[in-house]
Amino acid sequence: MDFIFETAEKIYRTYGFTKIETPVMEYTELFSQSIGNFTDIVQKEMFSFKDRKERNISLRPEGTVGVIRAYVENNLSYNPGIVKLYYCGPMFRAERPQKGRQREFHQFGCEAIGSMNPLLDAEIIEMHVLLLNRLRLKDYYIEINSVGCRTCRKDYNRVLKEFLSRHKEKVCENCQVRAEHNPLRIFDCKNEGCQKAFENAPLLMDYLCKECKEHFEKLQYYLRSKNIEYKINKKLVRGLDYYSKTVFEIKSDLLGAQNALMGGGRYDYLVELLGGQSTPAVGTAPGIERILILMNEKKDDLSIDAHAEKRIYIAYAGNPDEEIKFRIINLLRENDYITLYTYDEKSLKAQLKEADKLNCKFCIIIGEEELKNNQIVIRSLEKGAQENISLDDFCKDSNKFLIK
Ligand code: AMP
Repeated sequence: MDFIFETAEKIYRTYGFTKIETPVMEYTELFSQSIGNFTDIVQKEMFSFKDRKERNISLRPEGTVGVIRAYVENNLSYNPGIVKLYYCGPMFRAERPQKGRQREFHQFGCEAIGSMNPLLDAEIIEMHVLLLNRLRLKDYYIEINSVGCRTCRKDYNRVLKEFLSRHKEKVCENCQVRAEHNPLRIFDCKNEGCQKAFENAPLLMDYLCKECKEHFEKLQYYLRSKNIEYKINKKLVRGLDYYSKTVFEIKSDLLGAQNALMGGGRYDYLVELLGGQSTPAVGTAPGIERILILMNEKKDDLSIDAHAEKRIYIAYAGNPDEEIKFRIINLLRENDYITLYTYDEKSLKAQLKEADKLNCKFCIIIGEEELKNNQIVIRSLEKGAQENISLDDFCKDSNKFLIK
C-alpha cells in the first residue's frame, strides 16, 4: 500500500505539489454544503454524530473539501502562483461493503488551485496515467465529460426537469426527489428501471455554453497532444455536486461492479462557496484499495516486484570481513538500495536461498578468497550468473553494477 502512494508522491512532487494533512473529522455542514445535500454521500453514506457540545461532526468521506477548507482558512491563496497540494489518508463511507467498497478506505489525491486553464486538467490526468504506468497497470481507460458552469447548467436543468416530469412514474422514489431538487444527480442512479428511463434524457454536453465548450475542446486537444487516450462519456456526472466543467474517471473492467480507480475534475466554485475569493481549481482522488485489487487481479505482486530492482542481499563466504561488509551495506543504503543480510551463521547456499526468498535481485558475496585479490562477487539472482569485480570499482560506482 505504501508503495502505491510513494510512487504517486514522487510524481506529485515533480509536478510541483506539496503535501498537506487535514483532519479526519470536520463539521458535517462543511460536507453537506460542498458535496451537496442531495448526493448519496451526504444523504446515506456519512458517519455523522454529535460531540459533547452538540456539534454535528462527520468522518470525512473524501479529501478535497478538507483541503479547500484548510486553503481558505489558512490564506494559502497568498502563495504566489497556483497552489498545488496533495494528501493521503483514510476516508469513511457507510456503504454496504463489497469487493472494492469498504467503509474505511484510503485515498490519496491532489488539488491544483488557481487556474482555469484546461492544460492543468490535462496535466492532472497525465500524472495519474504516469502513475498507473509506473505501477505497470495497463487494463484501464479514461472517461471524460463536461458538467458545464452555472450558466449552462441553469438552462439545462430546466430542460432536464421537463423531461423528468414526463417520466416521473417510471423512476424510483430517490430519482423523483432528485428530479425536484438536483436533476443532474439522476445519472448517478444504479436502478435499472431509472437507467432505462433516462436512456434518451437530454445531455448537458449538448447544452454547454461557448466558454465551457471551448474549455472541453482544449482539454481534449491537450490530452491528444500528450498522447493520452480517452473516451467521452456524456452521462458521467460524478457523485459530488461541487464539480464544474471537466469531470473524469479512470476505470478498469477487471474491478467488477466498483470499476472506478479514481475520479476527479474541476471545481471552480468550491473555494468561493467555502468563504474564499472566487478561485478555479481542479483535482482528483485515486482509491488505494482499488489499485491494489487491480494489481492482484494481474496475479503480480508488484509491490515486491517493483522494489526488486533495489533489493540487494549481502552474503559472506568463509570468514566474514565485518568492516568491508558494513562499508558495502552503508554505501548501498546511502544509495537507497534495500540492503538485507543474515544475522545468523549460515552457509553460502543457505544465504543465497534466503536472498531468493526475499526477492532480491542481486547478491553481493564477500568471499574470503576473493578479498585476497581485493575483489567481491556480484551474483544476479534472476539470471543465476555471477562475476568477480574489483572492490574499489564497486565502491566508486555501485549503481553501474546493480542497475542492469
Ligand atoms: P469518489 O470520491 O467517490 O470519486 O471516489 C474516488 C475513488 O475513491 C474511487 O474511484 C475509488 O477508487 C475510491 N473509493 C470511493 N469509495 C470507496 C469505497 N467505499 N471503498 C473503496 N474505495 C472507494
